[in-house]
Amino acid sequence: MNHNIGIHQFTPDKVWKWKLLEQKIAHVLSLHDYQEIRLSVLQDYQVIHDGLTALMQQDEAIHATEGIVNLCQPNNDISLLTLRPEGTISVLHHTAKIIQANEVYRFYYMGPMFRKEKHDNPTEFHQLGVELLGSESVLSENEVISLGIKICQDLGLKDVSLQLNSFGCQNCREAFFEDMKAYLKKHEDELCSNCYHKLSTNPFADTECDNKTCREAIGQSPKISDYLCPKCLNNFSKVKKIQANLAHQYTVNPKLFKNFAYYNETVFDFVIKAQGKEQVIGGGGRYDYLSRLITGKNIPAVGFYLNIDHIFEIMDRRDLFTPQDKAFSVYISSQSEDLEMMLLQIAHEMHENDIKTVISTNKHDIEEDAALATKAQCELMLVIRDENIREGKILMRNLNKGHQDYIKLDGILDAILLARKSLNNQ
Ligand SMILES: [Zn+2]
Ligand SMILES: [Zn+2]
Repeated sequence: MNHNIGIHQFTPDKVWKWKLLEQKIAHVLSLHDYQEIRLSVLQDYQVIHDGLTALMQQDEAIHATEGIVNLCQPNNDISLLTLRPEGTISVLHHTAKIIQANEVYRFYYMGPMFRKEKHDNPTEFHQLGVELLGSESVLSENEVISLGIKICQDLGLKDVSLQLNSFGCQNCREAFFEDMKAYLKKHEDELCSNCYHKLSTNPFADTECDNKTCREAIGQSPKISDYLCPKCLNNFSKVKKIQANLAHQYTVNPKLFKNFAYYNETVFDFVIKAQGKEQVIGGGGRYDYLSRLITGKNIPAVGFYLNIDHIFEIMDRRDLFTPQDKAFSVYISSQSEDLEMMLLQIAHEMHENDIKTVISTNKHDIEEDAALATKAQCELMLVIRDENIREGKILMRNLNKGHQDYIKLDGILDAILLARKSLNNQ
C-alpha cells in the first residue's frame, strides 16, 4: 500500500496499528477537552470554494481550487458535491451557528481528505485537524502548539521539533507586502515565472521551487519579521518564551511559508528527521480573519493539522506499534448439523463472559479442527459429538498442553474458566 498516491485500503494487518494510533491521539485530545466532530466526506462545492478562496487574489484562488475533487453533477437542481479537501471551513460554519459571546470551542476531526494535482487522479490522505475557536489569547496559541507536540511525543516521536514564524496582523503586513512587491519587480529576471507569480499574489506562498537563482533571490527578499508591529512582536516573543520554558525544541524560521493565505500572526510546523532529512509532519497557525469572511461572524481561531499517513509510516519504520495482549479464545466445532444450535448456545455463553470464540463453520475431522484451532491461536477446543451428548458431556482439548478431557454439559463455563486460570498462571 502506498500512502501517498491514490486511495487507501486498510487490510487487517494494518488496521490494528491504525486503531492504536487513533486511540492514542483521541486520548491526548480528550485530556485537553477537545471534542470530536465527524464531518461528512461530501461537501458542498460552493461552500468549500468560497472558504478556500476567501482571502486570496484571483490567480491564487484559481490555483487553490484546481485541487478540489468534484463528483459528477446529475442536474443543476442539486448543488455540486466535492470530496472534502480539508476540515477547517466546515468547522467554522458549524461553530458560527452555535457560538455565543465569550464562548470557546475545541474541536478535532480525523479521517480521509481528497485533493488532486493538475490532471492527476484524486489522492486520498488522512489528516487530523484540531481547532480552538473563540480566543485571541496567546495562551490559546501555546495550548494548541503544545498539544500538537504532546500528541507526537505520545505516539513515540520524541524527536519532534517546532518551527515558528509570525505572519503579523493586517496592519503590519501592508508595508511588508508593498516592499515584497517592489523587490519581486526588481528581481523578476532571477525568478522563474512560477515563483514570481505565486509570490506576487501571496508573499507567504511556498513556491516549492528548487531553482538555485530562485532560492537565492527568495532568501534575500524582505522578511515579515522585520515588519512586525509592537503588538505582533510582543505576542510572538511570548509564544517563543513559553515554548522555550516548556522545553520544546524550536527554531524561528523566517521563511516558514504556508500556501493558505488566511493565516495571521503565529504560524508553525512540526518537523521530524526521517530518512536523513527534515520532514514536515504537520503544522498550523492562527486564522482570525477567515470566519468573518465566510460566516459573517468574527471568530478568532487557531488550529493545526497532522499528516497521519506520514506519521503512520514513520512509526511503522521505527517499530513503534506494539501488539496488545492476545485475547484468550476457544475454538468450537460440532460433528453434526443437529448440534449446531447447541454450538451457538455455548458460544453465546462464552461471549456473555467476555471469552472470544472461533466457530468451525465447515465439517472437519477432529485433527483438522485441531490444526485450524492452533492456526487461529486458540488455547482450547470444544468438540460437540452426538455420542458424547447422549452421555451429557463434550470433549475439551487444551491445545497448549496437548491433553484432552471430557467435561460435563452443565459445567462447560466453569471448566473453561479453570483452564484459563491455569494457563494464566504458567
Ligand atoms: Zn501587527
Ligand atoms: Zn522558481
